[in-house]
Order: sequence, then structure tokens, then C-alpha cells
Amino acid sequence: MSSAINELTYRDKKLIFSDTVPSGKIGWQSPSNIALVKYWGKMPVQVPRNPSLSFTLSKSNTKTRIEYTSASGRDMKVDFYLNDQPNPEFGLKTKAFFESISDIFPFIRQLDFKIYSENTFPHSAGIASSASGMSALALTLCDLERTHFGNLTEDADFYRKASYVARLGSGSACRSVYGGLVDWGKSKVLANSSDLYGIPVGDQVNEVFLTYQDTVLLVNAEQKKVSSRAGHSLMNNNPFAPERFQQAQRHIGELLEAMKAGDLETFIKITESEALTLHAMMMTSQPYYLLMKANTLQIIERIFAFRDETNIPVSFTLDAGPNVHLLYPFSEKEKVMQWIKSELREFLSPLGFIDDEVGKGPVKL
Ligand code: ADP
Repeated sequence: MSSAINELTYRDKKLIFSDTVPSGKIGWQSPSNIALVKYWGKMPVQVPRNPSLSFTLSKSNTKTRIEYTSASGRDMKVDFYLNDQPNPEFGLKTKAFFESISDIFPFIRQLDFKIYSENTFPHSAGIASSASGMSALALTLCDLERTHFGNLTEDADFYRKASYVARLGSGSACRSVYGGLVDWGKSKVLANSSDLYGIPVGDQVNEVFLTYQDTVLLVNAEQKKVSSRAGHSLMNNNPFAPERFQQAQRHIGELLEAMKAGDLETFIKITESEALTLHAMMMTSQPYYLLMKANTLQIIERIFAFRDETNIPVSFTLDAGPNVHLLYPFSEKEKVMQWIKSELREFLSPLGFIDDEVGKGPVKL
């Protein structure tokens, strides 16, 4: 079934309430994710220029509860509360998202929404609240369909559609729908891969990666300088973009091989190169952006030195921002934590760090 899915598959005019319009509450918790092979550059509509691969996180997540009632008027009503405070900005963005997917879920137009959402980490700061937030919304809408229309009863169908819908909200959100290691984007080395939704690939890798740690060092948790949307569009004119898209294709194959073999040296080489390439793309775009801070570089230098001195396989990756994701096997946790507290603390913002790890994926609330 998966190979048959295209941009029309999920448009379904029949998904409307023909009798009574129900009211109810549905909620999902969904995690953020950190890309190992980066998604940077896209085509309409939210189709990636290259495949990407990510670890789904655990503690960095969004809990979203939607209360829905029969629509009170023609205009869609979306009241949004973030961490218990009304958030009209998120309300408007969510309404725009809902309107954009109303050909997939036509029943949306028959409802008013109150949305209560909590993020466990700072949003708009490069830790992918858009991924956890949009995947939580997508899962909740699919659950609404399952509850009232009796569709999507097979988990595989449910999560595939949730991933497809999440992608339309924010590209990388489609990877948050599954736990472990997740691919999004067509790759020669993954037969079931698609540009339209993510697929879980964690069952293919060595067990060291099932409990891999990601301590997110918060160098600066302020709002991003360049929005993801603007960042992606910079790739349309970046002179290095075509080579970058090919490199990502190669990296997917090489990284998966290394992860199957438990080859940490190659894992480190590819993931660190991916992080620096993402930033190099930003530095070589017009206009150009420098998203690392001095403390980002201080930390990276110390990672190189610590690795050399101790042989502990600790490495970094970066999102499109200054915060450093420290990646390492669970077995090294105590030593790495001690090192963070003694040597890296001075480079962190008052928010410190988020002690996260590879997670199992979303859960229904
Ligand atoms: P990041 O993804 O790094 O946090 P972005 O600027 O890419 O930063 O995304 C932030 C956007 O994600 C917000 O403006 C909002 O539209 C959306 N978002 C964040 N948290 C939620 C949430 N809990 N529910 C719905 N949307 C959210």
C-alpha cells in the first residue's frame, strides 16, 4: 500500500459528519527529533530536496489536547493555549494549518477548537518545537478521524497518515511520529522510503543506538535569527546546494551501514560533518547567516579535545541554531555528565541543558 500513496491519496470528501456533529476531547504527546542527516532545502509542497535521518527524542516533547465542538459560525475558530496561557499567534498559525489540510479532513470545517498544548522545552529556539507541536496536532486529528469515522484502525495506516499530515505542518515533524531512528525522503538504500512521510528504520541498527543519549546544551535559547522557512528557501540559490543534496543521499547509505555495524567512528564522522555542512550552507547563502555563537565553538573544541584524551565516543550535532546536541552511548553517561558539569557549564545559558535520549515515539494521552 505504501508505494501507492501520492498527493491525492488522503483527499477524502466523504470525511464529513452527515448527522449530528460530535464534541469531545482527544490528546497526544509527541516528541521532538534531532536530525543526523539534515533536511535543508525543499520544493513545494513540503517535499525535501534530499532524504534525512533523525533520532526521535524523549523528554523534549509536546502534549496537546484538543477539545472540539460543533462549529458556531462559518469562520473556523481555533483558541490556542500554550502552557495555560492564551497564545493568539499559535492560534492563527494552527488555524492556517487546519485550513490548509481541510481537503484531507473536511470535518475540520464543521468544528470549533480549543487547543491546550505544553512544550517541555523552549520553542522557536532551534530544538524543533515545530516537529513535536505539528506531529501532536496531526496525530490528534487522525485520532479524531479514527474515533468518529472508524478509519485508520491499523496502526501502520494510522501512523503513515499522521506522518503525511505532520509533514504538511512542518517538514521534519513527519519524523516525530515514530520512535528511534527515522528516515524521511526517498533514498535508494531504503525501499519503502518516501518524500511524503517518514518511515521507522530503528530495527536495522546496532543496539548501542537504541539508548543513545542526546544532552542538549543550551548556549542560547532565544528566538531564532532566521526562520526555518526562510532558511530552506536560501538553498534555492546557494551555489553549493546541488552537491549538498547529493552528499546527503550518500550520507544516508553510509550512516545506515555504520549504524548497522555499530561503527561509532564513522557515525561521528558523518554526523559531525552533517552539522557543519548545514551551517556552511547558511554561511554561503545570500543573505548569509552565522548561527553559531562563540560558546558553540568553545564547546565543539572541547568535544574534540575530550574525545582525543579519553577515547570516549562523544560527538555533536547542531540544528539551525547555536545549541549543541551532545551525542553518546548510554554506557558513557556518568563520565560525560561529570565532564559537562565540570568543563562545559560556563558556556551554557542559565537554562543549562536538557538531558534527553532516543525515545519510543508518541503516546496517546
Ligand atoms: P523550533 O521548531 O526550532 O522550535 P520554529 O520557528 O521552526 O522553531 O517553529 C516554531 C513554531 O512551531 C511556532 O511558531 C509554532 O507555529 C509551532 N509550534 C511550536 N510549539 C507548538 C505547539 N505546542 N503546538 C503547535 N504548534 C507549535
